[in-house]
Amino acid sequence: MHPRKLESRILQNVHKANRDFGLVQGGDRVLVAMSGGKDSYGLLWALQKVQAALPDKFEIFAYHLDQGQPGHDPKPLESHLRELGVPYEIEYQDTYSRVVAMTEPGKVYCAWCSRFRRAIIYKAARRNGCNKVALGHHRDDLIETFLLNAFFSGQLKSMPPRLKSDDGSEQVIRPLVYCAEAELRELAEHKKFAVMPCTLCGSQDKERKAVKRLLEELSAKYPRIRTSMLAALANVRKTHLLDNSINPLFGATLAAALPSSLGDDEEEPLAFPADSAPTAAEASDAAAPEPLVTTIGGRPL
Ligand code: SF4
Repeated sequence: MHPRKLESRILQNVHKANRDFGLVQGGDRVLVAMSGGKDSYGLLWALQKVQAALPDKFEIFAYHLDQGQPGHDPKPLESHLRELGVPYEIEYQDTYSRVVAMTEPGKVYCAWCSRFRRAIIYKAARRNGCNKVALGHHRDDLIETFLLNAFFSGQLKSMPPRLKSDDGSEQVIRPLVYCAEAELRELAEHKKFAVMPCTLCGSQDKERKAVKRLLEELSAKYPRIRTSMLAALANVRKTHLLDNSINPLFGATLAAALPSSLGDDEEEPLAFPADSAPTAAEASDAAAPEPLVTTIGGRPL
């Protein structure tokens, strides 16, 4: 795709997500979680464009957590952030060693790793006065998560574009929910972002890999399958599912029998994203490790 067309397509999708879900407002201070992968570079790039285009101004604060994976080097990312001139923090906490020690042999590290990471990121947001945390999950992540939950955990759920934390102190936003992974990859190549490999930890979720492969195989035969799945996530027929608590027909009976249950018009209680929510014990575990070295803007504290 021509670079100009590619950029405008990604930006259109980000603006649309912003309009549909009210992600960024004037006066916000948004912590952009930079993993160093292509998606996070694309997220920062897109949010800076949105920042320039919106009349209501908001602030961007870039944040990278170095989790101590072997071979991890945040310097190229730091150079990029310096060149952009965005305020940033690079924090080092060796969660990798703890995750390796806590994970049973033969199991993947991802569950513990991401729980530690999320808890540390939320703390960083509070420390830096950010009321929102922007994550780089894109359309394909939403679709894969939806299938993973349906196939392996018996739930119909994906990743929300916007969610408040339990105490309401900050919101998680996902401005790339309408963006295709392939386009973000193309953007990263075209912009020559210094993308870090995401396999340093040597741990990969087998089920997610299988779902990715399945989607690739199906997309080769039915090219619009991902577009249709994204549309499906925004087009739920409550009467055609088996969940009593959301079905308006059965829900009425259930609500009468159980007055404290959710009615159809009531909002669900807000919580940390279900895909990543640490339990209370996990959150306190995650908050427990003291940083071995902490750097702000690359300078040791
Ligand atoms: S792939 Fe590696 S860095 Fe990513 S969540 Fe899993 S263990 Fe953590």
